[in-house]
Amino acid sequence: MAQKKSIGIIGGTGFYDIPGIEWTDERVIETPFGNPSDAYRIGTLDELEIVFLPRHGRHHSILPSEINSRANIYGMKSLGVEWLLTTSAVGSFREDLPPQDIVIVDQFVDRTKDGNRQTFFGNGVIAHIGFSHPICNELSSLVYEAGKEVTDKIHMGGTYLNIEGPAFSTRAESVLYKSWGMDVIGMTNIVEAKLAREAEICFSTLAIVTDYDSWHEELDVVSTTSVIENFNKAVVTARKVVESTLRKFQLERNCACKDALSDAFLTDVSTLPREKLNEFGVLLEKYLPNE
Ligand SMILES: [Zn+2]
Repeated sequence: MAQKKSIGIIGGTGFYDIPGIEWTDERVIETPFGNPSDAYRIGTLDELEIVFLPRHGRHHSILPSEINSRANIYGMKSLGVEWLLTTSAVGSFREDLPPQDIVIVDQFVDRTKDGNRQTFFGNGVIAHIGFSHPICNELSSLVYEAGKEVTDKIHMGGTYLNIEGPAFSTRAESVLYKSWGMDVIGMTNIVEAKLAREAEICFSTLAIVTDYDSWHEELDVVSTTSVIENFNKAVVTARKVVESTLRKFQLERNCACKDALSDAFLTDVSTLPREKLNEFGVLLEKYLPNE
């Protein structure tokens, strides 16, 4: 029997479960990069294997800047995940992207401060992945097609400005980012996109609009209460989009994501001692010399 296709889902704020999935296993994973946000729930839907992780932990106890994304993505890789779809709550810079709409992001601008945690490499192994197109177009197209069947509030393409958080932006920052032509703002996604690319996993993300950040003249106060209220309504839609995507999932991996590291190394990994390579676990398995 052919191996089941394995699809990872990282659920953001409010997104702690997927309807229609029968969960059959729960796995606690230790990684060379520390501990993931929670145990991975594993379930099936028809011929698919689904691996679910709540980004902030199941009791929402991890701040954006405290998330160990390296461990989270490594865990997905070690469980055999080849496609990764994530959700996150975002603010909107566009009047025509109101709260409860969903954007399938296709670009990022990074305003975070801790670049070290955005790569698996360093420590003797140097790799520079291509990131001009940070999202898997094949996966995103499928999500959009499947999403359109359950909602008209879904949009294809948009630039996600990633701030460090946990505070929301000031008015001045928000007006500045809007003037740059940004579409949405959040605190978590770019690092996951970079690490998924390094792990050669196809990546796409659903940005769920909860508010207008703080640029809007009339609706200018971003409060946690209004964010959660809008999200609770939108999360129902987002879950339907994810479920619809999984039910239509027929992708084969013909995209460049699966070989993202093939021309990324500046270090000749074939000459490194086995102990050094082992520090990177499953990430370098494919590139190790045959013994
Ligand atoms: Zn891909």
